Amino acid sequence: MSYRIACDVHTHTVFTRHAYSTVGENIAACRALDMELLGSADHFSSMLFPDQHLRNFQYFLNQSCWPRVWDGVVLLRGAEADIVTLDGGLFGQDIDCPETIVGRACSSDGSLFDRVTDGLDYVIASVHNGDFTKGAPIARSTNMYVQALENPKVFILGHTGRSGVPFDIDEVLTVAKEKGKLIEINEHSLEIDTRGWFHSVCSRIAQRCAEMGVGIVVSSDAHIAPSVGRFPHAQSMLEGIGFPEELIMNRDRRSLLEALDAAGICDLTDLADLAEYKA
Ligand SMILES: [Zn+2]
Ligand SMILES: [Zn+2]
Repeated sequence: MSYRIACDVHTHTVFTRHAYSTVGENIAACRALDMELLGSADHFSSMLFPDQHLRNFQYFLNQSCWPRVWDGVVLLRGAEADIVTLDGGLFGQDIDCPETIVGRACSSDGSLFDRVTDGLDYVIASVHNGDFTKGAPIARSTNMYVQALENPKVFILGHTGRSGVPFDIDEVLTVAKEKGKLIEINEHSLEIDTRGWFHSVCSRIAQRCAEMGVGIVVSSDAHIAPSVGRFPHAQSMLEGIGFPEELIMNRDRRSLLEALDAAGICDLTDLADLAEYKA
């Protein structure tokens, strides 16, 4: 069985600093592959800059100027936020944000996380540096993912199979299912996995999603335009386990947007029918 996957909601642009394409180049890559939807989700993380000031993250603040549909491709505004504490805290939640990007006092309270994600459609929560989890009992790292899922902006748990943090898969999947949030199957994890380390974890997670009826999202995690919308390793892994197509929530634009709405994150379902946007 071969799957059609028409949306890619985990892609990076030059803002990420170790990625190389613009949003426009990623859109063009989608267009060339007949993809229906692109989600741009750059890193929101201390890995970008030594100074965690709103000024450094202003790229996220003005995305309301992005067209909702660009060259026929629906464009979503996302971020990939680091999980940084065992309580499931996300980067920026414990960082005060007293000043605007021009150095004026902010008129209301709000963390760096709140200000950056306020105008975004969704957040992917991922662990990139799991040092803070070392030595923690599995119940605590499981709770870390559960608490991250509780965040109202979080739609997706990113590359849990690659992050190297052990957790109780069934417990996290149960909460994801309850909340209608998605577990990512990440192409990049499988692509770089020359020793097969990630493959076995990723396929175990996918297998349990299939058995428990938990929605997944298949993502490229592209850091350059030619990787956008391409998922050959993930597709063949899913085909190998006979993964049910109806649980791949990014199989088409409507399914993805309805899942985003059902998870209570935002209602963009009016973008599902593109016909009205065509000139
Ligand atoms: Zn990255
Ligand atoms: Zn990423």
